[in-house]
Amino acid sequence: MHVDDPTADGANDPLVNGERIMRICNACRYCEGYCAVFPAMERRLQFTRSDLNYLANLCHDCGECYYACQYSPPHEFNVNVPKSFAEIRARTYRQYAWPAPLAAMFARNGLAVSLVLALMLVLALSAATLVLGKDLVAATPDPAGDFYRFMPHRVMAGVLGGVFLFVALALAMGFIRFWRDMGESLSEFTRPDALRRALGDVLTLKYLDGKGAGCTYPDERRSQARRWFHHLTFYGFALCFAATVVGTIYHYAFGWKAPYGYLSLPVVLGTSGGVGLLIGPAGLLWLKLRSDPQTSDPGQLGMDVAFIALLFATSLSGLALLALRDSSVCGLLLVVHLGVVSALFLTLPYGKAVHGIYRSAALVRCALEKSQPMPDAGLD
Ligand code: SF4
Ligand code: SF4
Repeated sequence: MHVDDPTADGANDPLVNGERIMRICNACRYCEGYCAVFPAMERRLQFTRSDLNYLANLCHDCGECYYACQYSPPHEFNVNVPKSFAEIRARTYRQYAWPAPLAAMFARNGLAVSLVLALMLVLALSAATLVLGKDLVAATPDPAGDFYRFMPHRVMAGVLGGVFLFVALALAMGFIRFWRDMGESLSEFTRPDALRRALGDVLTLKYLDGKGAGCTYPDERRSQARRWFHHLTFYGFALCFAATVVGTIYHYAFGWKAPYGYLSLPVVLGTSGGVGLLIGPAGLLWLKLRSDPQTSDPGQLGMDVAFIALLFATSLSGLALLALRDSSVCGLLLVVHLGVVSALFLTLPYGKAVHGIYRSAALVRCALEKSQPMPDAGLD
């Protein structure tokens, strides 16, 4: 870290360590073919706070540079890029989050906050249902599986719509803070060539592919497991979201009210997405628990597990609701599912999910940089 940087906090500041490591790497450059981080690093001789925030979010935490490094511990240089960048990333999650107090609360104990929030939301929705004069457990099951008899559509849409608007605003604020910290204008973000390139990298998880050999995660052996579990999680979430959008269009544009048949478009999309959201997060948790402690930041484990657990619970409760919608416990399953979904969305801006936004934005910036000639200040 530059000694005149007011944010520098001596040896305890992850940015100070990050800058020290980047200076060593910039002299060495052995790892330049591994990922997008090292070519971006080579464009710089000095590393400001913003540069380190950018590079840390460009890193996808594969660990490959750690396993290849001749200066990693026990060498006295103590070069550990993935761990250093994991610590810097965690710092950026708090720095860019909006509103900040919620981020601080979540950062201290992400898993407990997520579970308590989900429980509180389930209890609040149960109370609201009872206040509306509905029963949570039906005396007579409805063969059609109509869950609006437990909670009116306007209440359900109001709760989820309010949560969605708040989360969209919080995520947009986080993105704007990240992008401004990079020193880029918002108009640069919309440059079609950079956007197209970054979108391709994101949707294919290009860097987790390791040029066909896979990624060194959770340990030194290469594997495609992390990439496929990520794909199942991301596309599973996207399909579930698409199911909600199609259901909303059916309701408001065509007046077709839920419940929809098992072979209808919203149910097919939701079921396929739900299966992906069961397998993907379970696989990611399995990998996470086996990941090399040398390359990870233990302080983030709770936050990571909280996100994975809420994704899994969202899918499990959604599929259970679909399977048992014509049973007497339909109302109970409905409030559990809505509570878990709301908790998942409310924690998105403060947990692991923001990695997807900041990393995607970092890839756009990387594409913008690649379209520029190498700066004269570079070492080439
Ligand atoms: S991680 Fe190690 S081997 Fe790789 S560039 Fe840095 S110093 Fe060199
Ligand atoms: S951990 Fe992987 S993604 Fe991160 S800098 Fe090292 S090689 Fe690149």
